[in-house]
Amino acid sequence: MQPPSSELDNKWYTAAMEQLIAVVQDLSQAPDLASVIRIVRTAARNLTGADGATFVLRDGDKCYYVDEDAISPLWKGQKFPLTACISGWSMLNRQHAAIEDIYADDRIPADAYRPTFVKSLVMVPIRQQSPIGSIGNYWATPHKPCAEEIKILQALADATSVTMRNMDLLEQLQKSYEHREKLILDNMLDGVITTDDQGIIENYNRACEHIFGYTADEAIGMNIRKIIPAPYDFDKHGGKAYISELEGLRKNGESFPIEISAHRIYIDGRMLYSGTMRDISERKADQQKLQDAKLQAERATHAKSEFLAIMSHELRTPLNSIIGMTRLLHEDVTLGAEHRDMVGIAYKAGGRLLNIVNDILDLSKVEAGELQLEKTVFSLYEAAEGIMQTMLPLSSQKGLTFNYDISGIDNTIYFVGDPLRLGRVMINLIGNAIKYTEQGTVTVEARLHAHEDDPNIKLLEFTVTDTGIGIAADKIGHIFEQFAQADSSITRRFGGTGLGLNIVKRLVEKMNGTIGVESTEGEGSSFWFTMPLMLADTAPESRKQSFHTRRVDRLPAAQRTPIEKLRILIAEDHVLNQQYMHYMLRRMGVGHYDIVENGRLAIDALAAGHYDLVLMDCHMPELSGYDATEEIREGEKKTGKRIPIIAMTADAMVGTREHCLQAGMDEYITKPINPDELQYIMCRWVDFPEKSLPPMPAAPLAAAAATDEVAKPSMIGFTTKLVDLKKLVEIFTKQWDEMMVTMRADCVDGECKNWTEAAHKLKGSAGLCKAQVLQELCNKAQHMHSATASERHDILNQIEAEYASVRSILIQSLQKQA
Ligand code: ADP
Repeated sequence: MQPPSSELDNKWYTAAMEQLIAVVQDLSQAPDLASVIRIVRTAARNLTGADGATFVLRDGDKCYYVDEDAISPLWKGQKFPLTACISGWSMLNRQHAAIEDIYADDRIPADAYRPTFVKSLVMVPIRQQSPIGSIGNYWATPHKPCAEEIKILQALADATSVTMRNMDLLEQLQKSYEHREKLILDNMLDGVITTDDQGIIENYNRACEHIFGYTADEAIGMNIRKIIPAPYDFDKHGGKAYISELEGLRKNGESFPIEISAHRIYIDGRMLYSGTMRDISERKADQQKLQDAKLQAERATHAKSEFLAIMSHELRTPLNSIIGMTRLLHEDVTLGAEHRDMVGIAYKAGGRLLNIVNDILDLSKVEAGELQLEKTVFSLYEAAEGIMQTMLPLSSQKGLTFNYDISGIDNTIYFVGDPLRLGRVMINLIGNAIKYTEQGTVTVEARLHAHEDDPNIKLLEFTVTDTGIGIAADKIGHIFEQFAQADSSITRRFGGTGLGLNIVKRLVEKMNGTIGVESTEGEGSSFWFTMPLMLADTAPESRKQSFHTRRVDRLPAAQRTPIEKLRILIAEDHVLNQQYMHYMLRRMGVGHYDIVENGRLAIDALAAGHYDLVLMDCHMPELSGYDATEEIREGEKKTGKRIPIIAMTADAMVGTREHCLQAGMDEYITKPINPDELQYIMCRWVDFPEKSLPPMPAAPLAAAAATDEVAKPSMIGFTTKLVDLKKLVEIFTKQWDEMMVTMRADCVDGECKNWTEAAHKLKGSAGLCKAQVLQELCNKAQHMHSATASERHDILNQIEAEYASVRSILIQSLQKQA
């Protein structure tokens, strides 16, 4: 551009203004200060057509000649005090300086100008309010700057000021944005990492410092593989972020599980990877704990089922002897009235004990989901009527009025269901009403209602109301829980286990019914249940109840053996049970029987002698009944003969029957053995005389009366013969004396199998002679799985003291008999 003449040149001014607009546009897009300086230094010279231009920035109290564009060098890169140069003057005075003759102006340090071409100049401040620099124009020939030139140059300085101010603001904004971003990232609970495309960490927030143990300074620049060795598969879900579980590595070398979600990002044309991660070691540990607890619970349930199977065996075996023997004794017409009464009491007590064992078994079966309801056709009316007849005497014995109304049940219709379980529910509720009522009335009502939707279903409504002790309002909510009893004083007064109502509730619910109670303490209770019952198409095939509803297909008469000619082999290891079998088979009139103690001896005996039938206990030492039967059946393959084998088992768990039949047994009978049932089963192979066994004593087991006489240790239930009693007491004391020695030796720290087994055996034999305290002590000893030696000594001392007293009672009773 041509320099303006001293006259106002409109054309020049217009062109300069247009050029200035272009420069302003360039400045607005300048990315950095260097570009600004470059644009300004060129524009400053071009706008005025001067011979040189400088760009000066204030640096504290100095002027810094940052850049220049001139016909020959000026002061680029030099610094002068503000007070020693014209650019400083312009900044300090916040105004322009226009000097035609620099050597005539005392503001100019003439020496500094002498080496240069400069004769005239204009200097304008950048940002007039508080200057940050200045722009200068220089001429090599004397030149009087006109007002327009100064205006244009000042306008350029102002535009420069705005640009620099904007740059400042932008920088501040960027800083504050970065600060905010860092603050957010640092306050996140999750770790956030950004890497470049080679996996080099570029960002690493504070949470990552906690997770991996490296500080941000240490981690930035490090490869991500050092802390997350396995790669995250970015393409697994079509490039979308997903949560992956990987291994993390801490600075201390510890490895831990980490959850990551990551994605690719593009910034300024670069591909980066960004991931959010979380240390999940605590969560994993919790999950593991839960898993372990679940496993443990499952194991415990399994152990409980097994324990119950064993317990059922162990309890039923001695009960077999007690109930069976007392039953036989009760039938003994030669027995005096007093003794018969005593036997009756023992028989009833045995029945009650059996009820409790059955309760516990049922409960465990319901809990283990193993209780299978029967589906038989039955008459509800007859079942209910039978129960009322059973309960009536119990109620009258207590002097209570017993009212029952079952007329609401049509006696011509039949249902499909489990009459035994249903009966148990009814008996339990009525039994409780009688038990917890001292005087007044027990009322039972049963009626059927039509089902709303299904004509094949009737709803049974059953209510038992009493005028008894009632239940306190704060206890009633728990009455259906396991082992729940309203009051411990009630337990002492009435006895009981607190299991009945829980089983009743579970049974009712299993049969899709509902149970409830209303009660007022001191006035009485009303227990009720409702239950849907499925109508049967036909009446039951046989109205006569058979054992376990089993059918026995008798062999043709010619193939059956008369009882007096029958030869039976009994395999049974329990001495007292052997005695019971001995008495029972003798009463049945069996021609000949031998008793052996285990499966091995049974096989030997069969090989050596002739027998028509085997009664085989399932659990025996040496060789179990199952294994012995399998061996016998294997041997029979050569001879083609097949001897009937009846399994005797105290194990009433589901699957036992299948196990027996699988092993090759023909039938099975559960202990305590009922002679009628055994005879019923045996009649498939055996002919009995017309006269059957005498009837059972009157009290039915299921409704054993609530008499609570304290049992005294005694062997009296086994035999009346003094010589046999003596033998039994001898067996008992011999076993105890020997076992006491073993147990003394086994008073050790920690687990001890010998101790447990010995205590278990002693518990059984204490139970057989009704030594309840001794039995309880042995039970405790048996469950001391990992006790200390001194704990074992303590309990053994108590056992010894109690055994001494039981022994002397038994011996005294022998002396009395004599
Ligand atoms: P148990 O009778 O063996 O203790 P149950 O489970 O049958 O156990 O009953 C639980 C508790 O409910 C009893 O201990 C008793 O406190 C209370 N109970 C049950 N039936 C009645 C009733 N008819 N009247 C008063 N209390 C009752």
